[in-house]
Amino acid sequence: ASFEEMGIKDDLLRGIYQYGFEKPSAIQQRAVTPIIQGRDVIAQAQSGTGKTSMIALTVCQVVDTSVRELGFFSGTVCGEVLSRGFVVVLIFLEIVAKQWILVVQALILSPTRELASQTEKVILAIGDFINIQAHACIGGKSVGEDIRKLEYGVHVVSGTPGRVCDMIKRRTLRTRAIKMLVLDESDEMLSRGFKDQIYDVYRYLPPDLQVVLISATLPHEILEMTNKFMTDPVRILV
Ligand code: AMP
Repeated sequence: ASFEEMGIKDDLLRGIYQYGFEKPSAIQQRAVTPIIQGRDVIAQAQSGTGKTSMIALTVCQVVDTSVRELGFFSGTVCGEVLSRGFVVVLIFLEIVAKQWILVVQALILSPTRELASQTEKVILAIGDFINIQAHACIGGKSVGEDIRKLEYGVHVVSGTPGRVCDMIKRRTLRTRAIKMLVLDESDEMLSRGFKDQIYDVYRYLPPDLQVVLISATLPHEILEMTNKFMTDPVRILV
């Protein structure tokens, strides 16, 4: 099937072609349709197969960029660390700054900062014509920048488990509207010791969540995760 035949929205197709793709790769041929239909998917695939682009294009398809919610654009996190006098001032600013903000609809977890940034870049490139807003939430960058970006609002967060978990616990990353979780290079995330943080993040996500899990290998611990997080998953071996 071509990208058009997969039912991808027009403005996203323009982005895919502008990025230089003409035909879907093997993993994209098999995984895109079930993912955009809302199924849970386990894809056994290595890097270099087109999996990052597959994540980017399905995330762009699933996110509704017209959705905004009335929320606070403010510094509750700063409020915790400042003196009482400042907290009062910040609360006042919160009321003044209540406005329509973007809400996070898709969350991607990756084992390394480089992969999380790369995925964010491909999403921004392919999603150019749908005006998608994405943010890489990774260790090593300033927490202040994460807070500013997340409080202003983005559609998609691509991050490493540690920093994402931290941002969720600070309530800077609001999880209520997340409808899709992607676990990229899952075996690699486990071998880097992120298991507890992945389970922690999962506990904060809504119950009717769609989960896509990508892994080069499927050891016992990964199968445990698929049993806990996924419902009737489609299995794809590339
Ligand atoms: P990825 O695994 O998504 O990082 O893709 C590996 C390489 O293949 C990258 O250079 C991508 O830009 C390229 N690629 C991915 N999907 C396609 C496609 N459908 N057509 C052409 N090149 C692709």
